[in-house]
Amino acid sequence: MSQALQYQSNGSTAPDHGAVIPDSRGINLFSADPYMGDLLKAYLPPSLYAHVLPYFRELGASAGAELDEAAMVADKNPPVLSTRNRAGEDENRISKHPAYVELERAAYEKYGLAAMSHRAGVLGWDAPMPPAVKYGLSYLFVQAEFGLCCPVSMTDSLARTLRKYGDEKLINDVLPQVSALDFDELKQGAMFMTEQGAGSDVSATETTAEMQDDGSWRLTGDKWFCSNPDAGFAMVLARSESAPGLRGVSLFLLPRDLADGQHNHYQILRLKDKLGTRSMASGEIRLEGAVAFLVGERGRGFQHMADMINNSRLSNGMRAAGLMRRGLTEATFFAQHRRAFGKRLIEMPLMQKQLLKMTVTAEQARSVMFQTATALERADGGDQAAAKLVRILTPLIKFKACRDARKVTGDALEVRGGCGYIEEWVESRLVRDAHLGSIWEGTSNIVALDVVRAMQRNDCLEPLKAHVRHLLDMGKPCRPDLLELQEARLQDVWSLAELVATDNRSDLARQVGSALYNTVAMAAMRWEARFDGLETRSELADLVLQHKLTPWDPCHADSETQFSDGLGQKLFGING
Ligand SMILES: Cc1cc2nc3c(=O)[nH]c(=O)nc-3n(C[C@H](O)[C@H](O)[C@H](O)COP(=O)(O)OP(=O)(O)OC[C@H]3O[C@@H](n4cnc5c(N)ncnc54)[C@H](O)[C@@H]3O)c2cc1C
Repeated sequence: MSQALQYQSNGSTAPDHGAVIPDSRGINLFSADPYMGDLLKAYLPPSLYAHVLPYFRELGASAGAELDEAAMVADKNPPVLSTRNRAGEDENRISKHPAYVELERAAYEKYGLAAMSHRAGVLGWDAPMPPAVKYGLSYLFVQAEFGLCCPVSMTDSLARTLRKYGDEKLINDVLPQVSALDFDELKQGAMFMTEQGAGSDVSATETTAEMQDDGSWRLTGDKWFCSNPDAGFAMVLARSESAPGLRGVSLFLLPRDLADGQHNHYQILRLKDKLGTRSMASGEIRLEGAVAFLVGERGRGFQHMADMINNSRLSNGMRAAGLMRRGLTEATFFAQHRRAFGKRLIEMPLMQKQLLKMTVTAEQARSVMFQTATALERADGGDQAAAKLVRILTPLIKFKACRDARKVTGDALEVRGGCGYIEEWVESRLVRDAHLGSIWEGTSNIVALDVVRAMQRNDCLEPLKAHVRHLLDMGKPCRPDLLELQEARLQDVWSLAELVATDNRSDLARQVGSALYNTVAMAAMRWEARFDGLETRSELADLVLQHKLTPWDPCHADSETQFSDGLGQKLFGING
């Protein structure tokens, strides 16, 4: 079946709209996606693909219907903090709307999104799921609900970091609790790092950790941004050593509840009033001698926490990709059904071009997401080159996809016209949520600088170059008339990267981050294009090459003709 036909007969249960204002509620977000099924086939072994396909279909249906409705309700009914019980005793309690709890149950219990990397038995599979399945399903889930995906990712990342650096007793005690599938048994995860004076600059951390006579630790200080503040366990950075800067900081696991069932010694002071992720609580916490457990080595807290941060950054990139896909699916649906000037919007060349531009950007993020996920699986299996690849791909996707999501969701909002700006529709929420991606877990500047560090300190450029070459060699060959251009641009990208790394040109960090991201995305799309159903991804790769890796003349009439070359017609199902 051609991709155009898939777009039209998309398996949607949404009514066929004669309606003047088209409404996609009820659409299956998996079936409506022209690429997801074939991408899964390309990236997963056949038996696993066959096993998980029904779950993708099922989640796609609920993400377009009841989960989407719940997300909208949860967004309008943010969590509420109460600090005393009715007898006047101090008691922190966060009340979450039932719609949010319904979303939690779906994410943690039904689909096991936080647990599937850490245990067998999730979705009936007899081993932990590889990252490509986790990110694929989460990509679908986030199209309905973004806010909750932060706690889900922190729970998953906390488990990963604990397994890597925790001592055996701590792992045995805590891992089953944070990877439980029974929602009522589950203890969720969080990460309390940021302080008023220590955001990007973690070396300014002031929270202290004091060892007690019995070897236990007590934490004291203020944490300024704490998402999921009532989580069962949080990873916390605190100053335990007299050494200045990062060398004095260690990593601790903070339980919410003490062994005797009492609440640990900390208070949630208030919740933030946020632009987006309104369904999920983010608070401020005062640690008042809270009991905590050391994780890993004293004085290496930031290095250990970097593992959790990187896992969360990759998850952030995945979420940005999902937000863009949702915006694009909505925009495409709307353009296919909305009429103006006697035509469907999709028939108008300017609309086709806009949708195609959005498609290129959204699909780049998805390709880099799958590339990073599969590299992570190899890295976790001991492949050193893959570990270096993950090291650099993670900040690349976090930096660029999160920035792109702001634009693509904004463009999707505009496609719906006036209704896009109205909070009854999903687009305004997508835009509000999208802006967070490039702030938390490191702002764009900080993450772009991390790309430079990955080249300088971790020697990641050569493995990245080798991987790009491999993808191009294995992929669908580049159009002959573009081959010379492609090789020339590759040379220029590598030269720029070497210059930035060698001369420590931090002022060029964002430029080189964008160039490397676009290069990887182009190569990945060429590799994907050799699989059935994914042929058009080589044309998307051509557009990345011509418009994102090559300078073009904004005053020349022919500068953008490639966007009108017929790919839009193929992708959006336009006849004639
Ligand atoms: C909704 C929300 C939830 C959050 N949840 C959590 C959480 O659960 N846990 C947690 O620990 N934190 C959380 N954060 C905090 C978030 O990670 C920080 O806000 C972020 O890391 C930036 O720190 P900052 O706000 O102190 O900004 P600053 O560090 O003060 O940065 C301000 C600006 O300076 C720029 N800048 C800083 N250093 C450099 C440099 N070297 N070169 C160029 N530019 C630079 C930054 O890019 C930024 O634009 C959350 C934030 C938000 C908004």
